Amino acid sequence: MQKVLIVDDSELITRVLSFMVADELGFEAVVAASYKETEEQLARHQGEIFTAVVDLNLPDATDGQAVDLVMQHQIPSIVLSATYDESIRQQVLSKGIVDYLVKEGRYSYDYAIRFIRRLYRNQFVKTLVVDDSATSRALIRSQLELFNLPVMEAEDGREGFQLLNEHPDIQMVVTDYEMPNLDGFELVKKLRKSRSYSELIIIGLSASRMETVSAKFIKSGANDFLHKPFSFEELQCRIMQNLETMDHICEIRRAANQDYLTGLNNRRYFFEKGEDTIKSANRKKQPLAAAIMDLDFFKKVNDTYGHDVGDAVLVHVADIIRKFPEDVITARLGGEEFGMLFVDRTIDDVLQLLEEFRQQVASIPVVCGGHRVHISLSIGVTEQGEGLDEMIKIADQGLYQAKEKGRNQVITA
Ligand code: GH3
Ligand code: MG
Ligand code: MG
Ligand code: MG
Repeated sequence: MQKVLIVDDSELITRVLSFMVADELGFEAVVAASYKETEEQLARHQGEIFTAVVDLNLPDATDGQAVDLVMQHQIPSIVLSATYDESIRQQVLSKGIVDYLVKEGRYSYDYAIRFIRRLYRNQFVKTLVVDDSATSRALIRSQLELFNLPVMEAEDGREGFQLLNEHPDIQMVVTDYEMPNLDGFELVKKLRKSRSYSELIIIGLSASRMETVSAKFIKSGANDFLHKPFSFEELQCRIMQNLETMDHICEIRRAANQDYLTGLNNRRYFFEKGEDTIKSANRKKQPLAAAIMDLDFFKKVNDTYGHDVGDAVLVHVADIIRKFPEDVITARLGGEEFGMLFVDRTIDDVLQLLEEFRQQVASIPVVCGGHRVHISLSIGVTEQGEGLDEMIKIADQGLYQAKEKGRNQVITA
């Protein structure tokens, strides 16, 4: 489901949009210049198109029939029109079109691309609607679904809180204020005790004309607020803005915790996450082991084949490290050095994982720039030590011995 359908009889427009879809979003653009071609493309790419940009006026369908056709395939669509017309806008939005854009040069294309990206990402953003009115819930649900968001519903704050505990992957909550059992303010306050603004977006709603409601919602911890009744576009804009902010924060956080070259976690992440993990493992009395590993004669790789090949070797090793079970915390600690923390695994289990890893690295040469580079690494591992710093220091003694004894081996310290 990574294709975008673009329907327009102007070759210039389809060319610009296809280029942007591929270049900026990395999706495949499927193009149709007429109603007939739209039918053909929908049949050919059935189940692969997740959104469409559709021209209202085509030579063989002058009355928006192509829009209806795409809608019949349940594909969220954006309509492009040469002119702005309020009655047409009302008409297409009532059909369930996600947005109506006028072709006004660069800006509207940028907006369309931003929109397509949002629609794609939204399918992974689980959203909970909390409202005691079934009518209101159904309306909000249909609007959110139009925007490609997967939706769950709760009848009041208490049920909403329970659902959020059962589904920690919910990323957005749209909640009413006045509800039995637990009202919107109380729900927001309870949620904020464990979920930050960037982890969970909360949008408050209320039909109350009380002026203080919006401020109270925000002060309780909501990201945003809307007065009922609101238009679909209002809701959509607020959601888009809040989700984009959340994405930016996540990207910044990822960049801060990730090693740029290999994409592995970096040293900072390793020690931060590692210390938390150790605390919780100690509480549960789970065994712990830490390992440190260093590539053998890596300077020689750089000196012989060049720095780029050296980089490729690091990426190659990182790809093998990524195959460790998910519960193992792994990171590039710096240079050609990597660290691992194992929780709730016997030392035999840890040693077996490390030995298999060592053998795999030593047995597969890295192919790069016409060279076949044979590599190996030395590993020190330990169960001793209080805290991650100390564990890594002890493991480092094992690593030192592994180097002394001829490299390409695992030593327990
Ligand atoms: P030993 O077996 O004793 O570990 O020998 P070594 O040559 O691997 O160790 P040494 O510490 O002398 O050299 C490490 C080299 O790693 C030196 C440095 O230029 C290189 N290096 C560190 N970071 C990077 C990197 O990001 N890319 C590349 N290509 N090389 C790097
Ligand atoms: Mg209510
Ligand atoms: Mg080395
Ligand atoms: Mg080193």
